[in-house]
Amino acid sequence: MTPAETTHEGADPSHGGITTHRGTRENCAGPDCGPDRGFTTSEISAELVKSAATDSDVLWSARVSTLGETSLADQYSGELAPRDRGLINFLMRDRHGTPFEHNSMTFLIKAPMMVFWQMVRHRVGWSYNLESGRYRELGLEFYSPDRDRPLRQVGKPGAYEYVPGTDYQQRLMWHELETSYGQAWDSYQRMLTAGIAREVARLVLPFGVYFHGYATCNARSLMHFLSLRTKDEGATVVSSPQHEINVVANQMEAEWARLMPETHAAFIRNGRVAP
Ligand SMILES: Cc1cc2nc3c(=O)[nH]c(=O)nc-3n(C[C@H](O)[C@H](O)[C@H](O)COP(=O)(O)OP(=O)(O)OC[C@H]3O[C@@H](n4cnc5c(N)ncnc54)[C@H](O)[C@@H]3O)c2cc1C
Repeated sequence: MTPAETTHEGADPSHGGITTHRGTRENCAGPDCGPDRGFTTSEISAELVKSAATDSDVLWSARVSTLGETSLADQYSGELAPRDRGLINFLMRDRHGTPFEHNSMTFLIKAPMMVFWQMVRHRVGWSYNLESGRYRELGLEFYSPDRDRPLRQVGKPGAYEYVPGTDYQQRLMWHELETSYGQAWDSYQRMLTAGIAREVARLVLPFGVYFHGYATCNARSLMHFLSLRTKDEGATVVSSPQHEINVVANQMEAEWARLMPETHAAFIRNGRVAP
């Protein structure tokens, strides 16, 4: 029986752009093609793996100011009274930030290296531990943005807008990433096979290689991070973060809002300004 005829696309610009080929991609000898090795994904995740964080933590730590050592008895998990909500809002609005530090959230992050490169710039109130490229062989997984990721940068520095790419740009990007990732991975493997240390062999791996790591913060340091790493037109100061770290920040914010709904609501109400 003759196998069903398939078509696939390659993107070598010297071929005049997208070219459609007959046959399966794996078997294609075209210069602009290569096997789809299945090592790219667009997944980015920030999973909450540990936490000790409630709205009540803001209240007892603030009220030590007037109640002394008895303020911890104030701790409860039920619905907050209006005066409790009022206190949280006051602390947020007037930027009394320290009561927002008596809590903890740990996230397991899976993201391309470029995201960690940006994350670790947040120095205050954050702890990080990342998998090592010295002590362990890195996994065969690389980031390739999906269709929702705006591809083109327009405007000027400080006021860039990101807009969708053309179909050609989209396919070209996928093709180039896959080709380049494949070459990098093969080089990495050749060096490891030849006995070269992982810490040296990893030099060929690009920004798109995936890492896993833990990031622990408190509500105050998270708010500072969110004010810079999310884009929200309702914010008092609208930031312009890179799409991928914004994806991480959105997931963290959703988890935090679930744990500390009144604190989160006060953050929004006060223009997403970290106290
Ligand atoms: C949109 C965007 C674009 C960026 N572009 C670049 C770039 O082009 N190049 C680049 O290098 N970085 C860039 N960054 C990273 C940026 O410069 C910060 O490193 C990052 O946002 C962390 O902010 P932070 O220092 O306020 O946070 P943290 O390090 O968590 O610090 C929190 C706060 O503590 C205080 N603080 C911390 N350290 C000190 C200190 N040494 N002295 C005084 N006060 C301190 C400050 O009040 C600070 O806001 C960019 C960030 C964003 C959001």
